[in-house]
Amino acid sequence: MKILFATSEIAPWVKTGGLGDVAGALPAALRAGGHDVRVLVPAYPALLKSFPGAAEIARPHWLGGLLPTPGLREAVAPDGTPLLLLDYAPYFARAGNPYLGPEGRDWLDNHLRFGLLSRVAAWIGSEASTLDWQPDVIHCHDWQTGLAPAYLNYLPGRLAKSLFTVHNLAFQGLFDHASLFELGLPDAAWGMHGVEFYGYLSFLKAGLQHADSISTVSPSYAREIQTDEEGMGMAGLLRHRSGQLSGILNGIDTTLWNPATDPHLERTYSARHPEGKAANKAALQAQLGLEPRPDLPLLAVVSRLTEQKGLDLLLDMAPQILKTPAQLVVLGSGGPALEHGFTALAHKHKSRCAVTIGFDEALAHRIEAGADIFLMPSRFEPCGLNQMYSLRYGTPPLVRATGGLADTVIDAADTRHGNGFVFAPATTEALLQAVQRAIAAWHDPVRWRSLQKRGMARDSSWEGAARHYAALYASL
Ligand code: ADP
Repeated sequence: MKILFATSEIAPWVKTGGLGDVAGALPAALRAGGHDVRVLVPAYPALLKSFPGAAEIARPHWLGGLLPTPGLREAVAPDGTPLLLLDYAPYFARAGNPYLGPEGRDWLDNHLRFGLLSRVAAWIGSEASTLDWQPDVIHCHDWQTGLAPAYLNYLPGRLAKSLFTVHNLAFQGLFDHASLFELGLPDAAWGMHGVEFYGYLSFLKAGLQHADSISTVSPSYAREIQTDEEGMGMAGLLRHRSGQLSGILNGIDTTLWNPATDPHLERTYSARHPEGKAANKAALQAQLGLEPRPDLPLLAVVSRLTEQKGLDLLLDMAPQILKTPAQLVVLGSGGPALEHGFTALAHKHKSRCAVTIGFDEALAHRIEAGADIFLMPSRFEPCGLNQMYSLRYGTPPLVRATGGLADTVIDAADTRHGNGFVFAPATTEALLQAVQRAIAAWHDPVRWRSLQKRGMARDSSWEGAARHYAALYASL
């Protein structure tokens, strides 16, 4: 099958979260299964720098509304995946984060930037396309490409089917009514059965409403988002479309995230030869200025610092954990309250707690390898990748039972299958209890080894997910 991925991020070039990882890995897994997958992504500076020779192969014209005429450039990723770079410098030649300006606020023209991305995806899937390649299915991801199924629906000459994958229902791409005209959508698109959502235009709603099929990144999250509590206003629509909604668990990039070959580590190790893990812990403690204490459990977080991730719960009870005694390492960035809160915590407990504000890929790898227990107390978590990295790195994850966390982590109370620690209520007490259970287990080396071994043996590769996606494309 011929599949066009339409995405606003792609690892390793542009990534703010799990979506970037998925777009960087799933196409190659599908291609390995014999499918012809190409990726449409904005030509951000990082991509143009990596592919300076990318030649222009088309210029989509007459896209409607205020949308400009961009160029499409062709490149090939190192894994062999063809890339279509959407080149319009006034929109995409901006440094840093793809969505936010230097002040940390959304770019004011995000509707046009990602409207253009969606519109060009639909153009490629329509009769208007001048490319010599025609996709059977356009696979859209999150709000940034949610308008593509709407354009396919409202404009003439449609040739491709669409699949819309929700990586996070919280990001809804809301813009005011005037954007309908600017984006070249017809008046008929405004309304409950179109792209309108409580008086706004929602890119997310547009995708949920108009895609031929909808998926999300874990079976549990697919169920949860159909409830009024967790549906973020979309539950009614999702229940209505439940026949076309499925949940497919993400894989991870097992080449990048492999403790046996990871170049970021102090020493590599594996399930059969786990000795190197201790050297990584010592190196991490030294790098972050923590006391060199092999005898203390080292707990870790690598995350966006937001309410979603439940890290306010951790901040509340962190002083108690540190007294247990234990050490805590945090790497992340996000809301100012959590950034300040964790920074202040580290100042107060210098030998026990280290906090790094920022995005640091190398340090993320060194933390996965050097920590003993990985914390993800998320309020909701569509899939989550870090718990899968942790399992693979022999760092049992401690998670809240939600979304993809519930689908990947089995509590140690199950002595045959347990690979981590799971708690349910989103409260500091429940989190503290789970942490205490995990620390007690860590002090029992025999039990801990078998927990680590089971986690390291879990197959988190993309092959299984790719087979599910291929079946979904075929059903369209
Ligand atoms: P989300 O997409 O909600 O942020 P995921 O767990 O699905 O959460 O994916 C997060 C990805 O981003 C992981 O690959 C994680 O390692 C990475 N990540 C998050 N914050 C940081 C950070 N501060 N530094 C390095 N990597 C980070």
